[in-house]
Amino acid sequence: MQKFDVVVVGAGAAGLFCAGVAGQRGLRVLVLDHSEAVAEKIRISGGGRANFTNRDIDVRQPHKHFVSENPNFCRSALSRCTPSDFIALVQKHGITFHEKHKGQLFCDRSAEDLIAMLLAECAAGGVQRWQPCGVKTIRVDGNGHYELDTDRCTVLAPKVVVATGGLSIPKIGATDFGYRVAKQFGLRTVEPRPGLVPLTFDGEAWAPYAGLSGLSLPVLIETGDKKTRMAFAEDLLFTHRGLSGPAVLQISSYWREGTPIRINLAPEVDLPAALARAKATSRKLIANELATLVPSRLADAWVAQDKDWQRPISEASDKALARLAERLARWELTPTGSEGYKKAEVTLGGVDTRDLSSQTMESKQPGLYFIGEVVDVTGWLGGYNFQWAWASAQACAAALSEQKIA
Ligand SMILES: Cc1cc2nc3c(=O)[nH]c(=O)nc-3n(C[C@H](O)[C@H](O)[C@H](O)COP(=O)(O)OP(=O)(O)OC[C@H]3O[C@@H](n4cnc5c(N)ncnc54)[C@H](O)[C@@H]3O)c2cc1C
Repeated sequence: MQKFDVVVVGAGAAGLFCAGVAGQRGLRVLVLDHSEAVAEKIRISGGGRANFTNRDIDVRQPHKHFVSENPNFCRSALSRCTPSDFIALVQKHGITFHEKHKGQLFCDRSAEDLIAMLLAECAAGGVQRWQPCGVKTIRVDGNGHYELDTDRCTVLAPKVVVATGGLSIPKIGATDFGYRVAKQFGLRTVEPRPGLVPLTFDGEAWAPYAGLSGLSLPVLIETGDKKTRMAFAEDLLFTHRGLSGPAVLQISSYWREGTPIRINLAPEVDLPAALARAKATSRKLIANELATLVPSRLADAWVAQDKDWQRPISEASDKALARLAERLARWELTPTGSEGYKKAEVTLGGVDTRDLSSQTMESKQPGLYFIGEVVDVTGWLGGYNFQWAWASAQACAAALSEQKIA
């Protein structure tokens, strides 16, 4: 039996960062992962360039960028490991990066640079990494220490950190391991569901829009009512099966099955005024006038839905034009579902924060910690999920080393 101070299960973003920090603080750390490749999700993230953080985080208002039954849970960790702290580490490793849209930071060269950085941090901390190596069972011995039966041997440690992520993209190693361990030790979980995921629609109802596949345009999208209302101004992408693009990925984390989403397809245009002006001055078809206000493919698909819209604009009734403006500005539709974990960037829900310490990430089961996406904290699109992975890992590693010294 091999002994360590800490065993980290999962060599992804959170697990590697936690292992490196804990190792450098003098702990004997083992990190293991059942996958052959290390940190596959980092590798594929941000189109291969990893959107590794976001400059725009307001830790006083975590609900602005994080979804959780208790968004305030992530405040403490996020305020102790800020985007600037992580940027400083990235710079120390000579990784160049650039800012894209809305504070999002991406590696200039490749996400591989970030993986190399995390591995170098682990090496600096003398961390042992076993891959591929799964965990068959976890049990607590008479001293309250953990025995893990792994594919290599049984390991013993007083502390175990579960960093096995969520359920999205099963083909690169996602499992429900973390939720099972939580249940084994009597911890509560919030039902997991796919987040940051394209939404799908019924085949027949979608037929009028299927031809728009590939079209992208800026929209205002919303879901929910009153207190639960959530809105995003982002780009929408039509696909063969439904809707995607940043607007839909963002709203998907708030959308509840059976409820509608509403989309303003021309948020920057005063449609009623523009159509009235065109009616007074133009003899062109409505479709041609509309094509000066929205993409022409969208204009064609829209007017095809109503005979009253298939005529010269000068001959259209005010009522028909008002209906057209209203339908473009408030397109309401109910998704039948989502593309699921196969395409979801994240998993909402997870280990219930009521059973975790926001200071240390330790659960009510002493010595058992949960960090990263396995926890019921999910960020918006734009680098927030990695920032949560770094911040929760840092809080956990700090606590582990302080407890050792104490
Ligand atoms: C396509 C895609 C693009 C993304 N792009 C971004 C982005 O640009 N910016 C951003 O902030 N977020 C992005 N995300 C989300 C981000 O990748 C995750 O939120 C983040 O990786 C979570 O870190 P984690 O360490 O908790 O989990 P992961 O990074 O998923 O790591 C979990 C690790 O645990 C291992 N594991 C699982 N089960 C077991 C088991 N039973 N035994 C042993 N090991 C196990 C897995 O193999 C994996 O290596 C993206 C996600 C996807 C899918």
